[in-house]
Amino acid sequence: MEKYVVRCLDCGEIHDPHSLNCKNGDDALLRTNYSRKQLHPSELPGIWRYYDWLPVNGVIEEGSGRTITYKSEGFASEYGLEDLWIAFNGYWPEKDAGMMTCTFKDLESFPTMQRLKELNEERIMVVASAGNTARAFSHVCTITGQPLLLVVPKESAHRLWTTHNDNPSVCLVTVEGDYFDAISLAGKIASREGFVNEGGAKNVARRDGMATVMLDAVLTMNSLPDHYFQAVGSGTGGISAWEASMRLVDDGRFGSKLPVLHLGQNLPCAPLYSIRSGNDAVAESCPENMYDDVLFNRKPPYVIKGGVKDALDATGGEMYGVSNDEASNSQSLFEKTEGIDINPAAAVAVASLVQAIEKGNVCTEDKIVLNITGGGQKRLMQDHPVRPIDPSAGVSARDPNAEDEILNIVEQFFGVRL
Ligand SMILES: *Cc1c(COP(=O)(O)O)cnc(C)c1O
Repeated sequence: MEKYVVRCLDCGEIHDPHSLNCKNGDDALLRTNYSRKQLHPSELPGIWRYYDWLPVNGVIEEGSGRTITYKSEGFASEYGLEDLWIAFNGYWPEKDAGMMTCTFKDLESFPTMQRLKELNEERIMVVASAGNTARAFSHVCTITGQPLLLVVPKESAHRLWTTHNDNPSVCLVTVEGDYFDAISLAGKIASREGFVNEGGAKNVARRDGMATVMLDAVLTMNSLPDHYFQAVGSGTGGISAWEASMRLVDDGRFGSKLPVLHLGQNLPCAPLYSIRSGNDAVAESCPENMYDDVLFNRKPPYVIKGGVKDALDATGGEMYGVSNDEASNSQSLFEKTEGIDINPAAAVAVASLVQAIEKGNVCTEDKIVLNITGGGQKRLMQDHPVRPIDPSAGVSARDPNAEDEILNIVEQFFGVRL
């Protein structure tokens, strides 16, 4: 029997396992169905502990970390929470947390890369990102040697640090100009011959990789939680948590009720919160003035079948709009009471939990999972040498030849003709 098949949520047909879209043109996500209905952790390192429910046939041994779930004492006692669990993604050696780029984007990049290896993919992968995704893909591509083109807004280039001595397969191009120009330039290049696009939320490897946060939490707690909290931009992590929950219900050992999704966005750039609350919460100037602009995504996969809307509706979920002050206060309190630095995006999840407590959306005795999507970066920088990834070149979005310029840079960098 096949380890898994990939099905369209609309037409129900089985697709090629690497498809990103329905072959019949349905506006729906594809989803994996695994032949193993019960989750048994493997002895493999990092994320591969959840091998049975990852759409891969092989692993990348080196460099992968996984979520570490533990019961909160410090932060929980500040609010009288009796059953709060932290799903920590990042670097924290005392807890055996070893995600070396310090965010859960590693959970997406490793399974995605493993599948490219299975296809013997030689084309250049293109990733456009404001930072954390780019860092996660540059980490895994440095390990496997996959050629990678990163297109990053100039102001975000500081997020591109690495623990590797060099990154010979990573070509970094910075873009001067608007954030969306960078994304759209990368999109144009990715659609050309010689390049491959990783697919975002439509890529089942990305979603099932992120789903391992819920798998780790549930195996640690031995039960599904009542509530799941996460900061979102695209909301892909929320979709993934819902998909993991459905599999865990089918497993039969962990309970039958889907956890309620509580997803937080950062004001004033909160499109998903806008849709759900009916308040206009997307400023003209976005993503400026955000606590963390990795949380901004202008076109989140909301209405697509199997997307954020379905995930919220199915779980009775809730969106939160979090101000910069709330995020900052929550970050300080969390860091002080739990003893680890966290990524600013993760602070938005912490602040959402605080709002939920204040609104009475959770009770103090409920079982709650708080996804700390990134943490331990300061800690890692104390323990390990890190260096910035050097840009190969910069282009200006206003330059009408920017696309050709990038192609020239790529040809020189990789010694190829495109
Ligand atoms: C990307 C990211 C998020 C949001 O992830 P979604 O794709 O919207 O689920 C949250 N926190 C951190 C640290 C991130 O890098």
